[in-house]
Amino acid sequence: MHGLSVPKPSDPAHVSAWLSAFEQALTAGDDAALRAVLADECHWRDLLAFTWTITPHDSRDLAIAGLRKAQPSIQAQTFRLAETRTPPRRVKRHGVDTIEAFFSFETKTGRGSGIVRLLADKPDRAWVLATSLDELKGHEEPIDMRRPAGSAFSRNFGGDNWSDLRAKEQRFAGREPAVMIVGAGQAGLAIAARLRLLGVDTLIVDQRNRVGDVWRERYHSLALHNQAKLNHMPYLPWPPNWPKYLPKDMIAGWLETYAWAMECNIWNNTEFLGADYDQAADRWDVRVSRAEGSRVVHPRHLIFASGVAGKPWSPKLPGLDTFKGETLHTHSYKDGTKWKGKNALVVGAGTSGHDVAQDLHGHGANVKIVQRGPTTVASVKAAGLVHSVYYEEDLPLEDCDMIAVASSYPLLVRSYQAAVVKMKEMDKDLLSGLAARGFKLDWGDDNTGHQMKFRRRHGGYYLNCGCSELIVSGDIGLIQSEDIESYVKDGALLKDGRLEKADLIVLATGYQSQEQVVREMLGDTIARKVGQIWGIGANGEIANMFVPTPQKGLWFTGGGFAQARIYSQYIALNILARELGLAR
Ligand SMILES: Cc1cc2nc3c(=O)[nH]c(=O)nc-3n(C[C@H](O)[C@H](O)[C@H](O)COP(=O)(O)OP(=O)(O)OC[C@H]3O[C@@H](n4cnc5c(N)ncnc54)[C@H](O)[C@@H]3O)c2cc1C
Repeated sequence: MHGLSVPKPSDPAHVSAWLSAFEQALTAGDDAALRAVLADECHWRDLLAFTWTITPHDSRDLAIAGLRKAQPSIQAQTFRLAETRTPPRRVKRHGVDTIEAFFSFETKTGRGSGIVRLLADKPDRAWVLATSLDELKGHEEPIDMRRPAGSAFSRNFGGDNWSDLRAKEQRFAGREPAVMIVGAGQAGLAIAARLRLLGVDTLIVDQRNRVGDVWRERYHSLALHNQAKLNHMPYLPWPPNWPKYLPKDMIAGWLETYAWAMECNIWNNTEFLGADYDQAADRWDVRVSRAEGSRVVHPRHLIFASGVAGKPWSPKLPGLDTFKGETLHTHSYKDGTKWKGKNALVVGAGTSGHDVAQDLHGHGANVKIVQRGPTTVASVKAAGLVHSVYYEEDLPLEDCDMIAVASSYPLLVRSYQAAVVKMKEMDKDLLSGLAARGFKLDWGDDNTGHQMKFRRRHGGYYLNCGCSELIVSGDIGLIQSEDIESYVKDGALLKDGRLEKADLIVLATGYQSQEQVVREMLGDTIARKVGQIWGIGANGEIANMFVPTPQKGLWFTGGGFAQARIYSQYIALNILARELGLAR
């Protein structure tokens, strides 16, 4: 709900004047002058440029203190309107009329860009400011005009060609990678692609046979729930003829192609077993198991891109062990072919629960969903209209991404709450139909809906792709978990004495937390040191994601495609900066 008004061009002079006043105040280290260019309510989110991490500042005093603290070492300067980007526009963001403009700047070591939202009625004051590090000087990506000549392998008669060199490089024989990434899903691949272009030697390990298998193995009918334009990978966007809602096998094939095209070094069929941090040597001892035997690898950086959701979580439901039919977790569910005419219970009413129930129903099974707690439901249309709406503004992707990262937690809360009001109105028939069936709905603790649920819990919602209508019509049944006495050999015994017969019980009960994975793989000491992973941390950011963690050399990434694309830049640049000794 960032831009419901139609943006209008704005006079760039306001912005240039503000940038110049801001730079003067910053360089002078003058509190009063900084106060004069920042609005009473001010939000500054820095992405590496000033703080070498992702740092929100959600008051004017915090912003001034942060700028004053960073500037002596960072030496930010030459703030200019970014000429190659979307020109300044009048636009409403989070309900406030602003002049929004993209700018560029330099620091001692890098080049950056940013966005400023000046108050439309006080254009000498910034309400929202974001600053992003885009590249390090002397380490620019060799792309486009800097495309490499390829002389190491072109017309190298009698010597190695590109394929030979790639094969050698992938082996890591007698060589240790600087970075190891666990997981060759979209998050791991996006960072690997970026690190390669920055010249940082990187190895991805993945336990699966082929890149893309994580998607191929998911259930037959899976297609993304938000649109392709939000979900591009860095450097290689989806082909322009691909559908808006991408089916899983197209994603799988593209990720495999991506890994090849971006020359990512990957060991498939390789399981990450665990690691210890060797303080003295400043590197990890990583144990991996491969078909040809185990190996200990010694990267300086270890990135978990193994999926924010850890291993499938199957709660101990009373009596479930006595059930004589088939029980499986959605993680292992493929399709409903063999369940035609059979009775199925799907325990859990999040995205996977709905999708699996709908798939079983589509294959002719009699399905009931067992709802364990309230769920946020929105139609794909309502969700698409109110969130990430700036991706509909016909701007270049990098501008949409910058708009997306500019807003810190309090602003997100505000706009998600406004979005929920609108979504409820748009979906009122659907929602009242669900309520009439006894489906429990909620909008999160503070009415921020599915978007904040994703950030806080990585689940608890469903963007309706047709299953809700099936519940409303009664084609898919609904049972509340508290109405079940226990599971029994033939299904579920209800508290009123009825037996709900089942041949199949699917547990759509989610996944272990990443914290649990870290405890198992890296041990208690590191798990305690790192603490919360995902969910909202003390500063309003998603805890320990995409930033240096309390454990040196340990990083976490994940989430949706947009997060993989956007935040891979900051992990990759941050690692390069640490490799170069620019940041600690
Ligand atoms: C039904 C459904 C709909 C979704 N819809 C959308 C959508 O519309 N838009 C969107 O952006 N996202 C969507 N997502 C969410 C998200 O994009 C996916 O969950 C995505 O797979 C996360 O990518 P990732 O790279 O972080 O992790 P994953 O894709 O889970 O990849 C992790 C990789 O790590 C490997 N791995 C894990 N542990 C180990 C180990 N110990 N050793 C070696 N390898 C290991 C795995 O084999 C896997 O290949 C959806 C997900 C689902 C299930």
